[in-house]
Amino acid sequence: MSEQTLANATVEILGEKFSRGEVSSLEATEACLAREGSTHHFGAYLHVCAERARKDAQLSDARRAAGNAIGPLDGVPVAVKDLLLDQGLPTTCGSKILKNFVATYDATVVSRLKAAGAVLLGKLNLDEFAMGSSNEHSAYGKACNPWDPERVPGGSSGGSAVAVAAGSAFATLGTDTGGSIRQPAAMTGVVGIKPTYGRVSRFGAVAYASSLDQVGPMGKTVRDVAWMLQAIAGHDPHDATSSSRDVPDFTQLLERGVQGLKIGVPKEYFVDGIDPEIQAAIKVALALLEKNGATVREISLPHTEHGIAAYYLIATAEASSNLARYDGVRYGVRAGGAQGLMDMYLKTRSEGFGFEVKKRIMLGTYVLSAGYYDAYYLKAQKARALIKRDFDEALRDVDVIVAPVTPTPAFKHGENLSDPMAMYLADIFTVCLNLAGLPGLSLPCGFTGSGLPIGMQIIGKPFDEATILQVARAYERETPWHTRRAVS
Ligand code: GLN
Repeated sequence: MSEQTLANATVEILGEKFSRGEVSSLEATEACLAREGSTHHFGAYLHVCAERARKDAQLSDARRAAGNAIGPLDGVPVAVKDLLLDQGLPTTCGSKILKNFVATYDATVVSRLKAAGAVLLGKLNLDEFAMGSSNEHSAYGKACNPWDPERVPGGSSGGSAVAVAAGSAFATLGTDTGGSIRQPAAMTGVVGIKPTYGRVSRFGAVAYASSLDQVGPMGKTVRDVAWMLQAIAGHDPHDATSSSRDVPDFTQLLERGVQGLKIGVPKEYFVDGIDPEIQAAIKVALALLEKNGATVREISLPHTEHGIAAYYLIATAEASSNLARYDGVRYGVRAGGAQGLMDMYLKTRSEGFGFEVKKRIMLGTYVLSAGYYDAYYLKAQKARALIKRDFDEALRDVDVIVAPVTPTPAFKHGENLSDPMAMYLADIFTVCLNLAGLPGLSLPCGFTGSGLPIGMQIIGKPFDEATILQVARAYERETPWHTRRAVS
């Protein structure tokens, strides 16, 4: 198998080749490194640790040779968003303020991937502190959509999506606070899942908005993503918000089909302003699921329209508090030439943070201030409760909800930068899920006439990622989208 073909394979195919002795982990690692070299202009990686990866790959090959392979991820080259700590590697969060920061320990998700035998290749590009929907807010350069490099890959986990779509990692981890796994997955034609709040540990994941953040995987297929989720899910004593619920065997439940399942389609998600090709693709997908035995019915999530406002108030409020720790004393860069402590704080923060992050810190500080707390923050929390209740009620009658992920396919670089409202509105179909703490997956369900990927969102009950993956797999089995590659 040529290096080029190998980089385009799935984890599943790679595993078969490993077990037949046709490919080594070292070869797979070299294939990803070569692909990263040839697609470097896509800006997926902020840091590549080639030497460590080669060593880890050789260790995996030795394990396999001795008959001690660990499981489906053993020897598989993967990479993580650069706000997840990987000991000894830089963690910049896409920000100048952490330019010199080196992780002193592993995030739990990173140590779990290592324990599963995965080969970690490095750190992936993102919007600064995960604030953005286009990866244009990274202090280290934008990332490009492999299907059309003039377009954004989505964000904030842009690099995580690009690496999978371009073949420079077999699977990746991202984080999703308001859509940052699902939206870039949709825009680059890969699969991504935001697990239930509490399903995956956030220990060692740099916080953006702590009541919303969740870590999750991206991959080329549903099965690949299920394996990644299996490796990272489950209780972690280091994270009090991680759930102690049992984690089911996701891959074992994958092929159950959709016979008898009830699918809800929220009428508020199919309104004017949504790209007609996206609407059409999802309708066709729903018809296919129906043909395979699911029943589809319209549901209502009446408070959807308040999602964006509630999200951007709550997320910025929490961010303003979480980002207070970057003060030039405890972490990262300290500005020089300051006159006294206060001046040092001010200089460090004004030089270290980018425009979007500063804007959000100011907005968040404002909505939490004594005079405005009730009018904004408290009201947003009330809207959040109503949004959650909408989902609770809807999910009493249906097993999953199917919806678009984004109102448009990938947009051009710069297109939404001058219009922050347009950028924020692009999150309309993803943020409500985070407010409600629910799991949601994005998978490819077609391409536009101009060749851009379209994503479909499958939303499930709390801690029922298994059913989401099952529906996604039932659809994937019948469709060719997951076999298309942006880079040949
Ligand atoms: N686009 C949203 C924001 O900018 C979501 C980001 C995320 O999920 N990290 O806040």
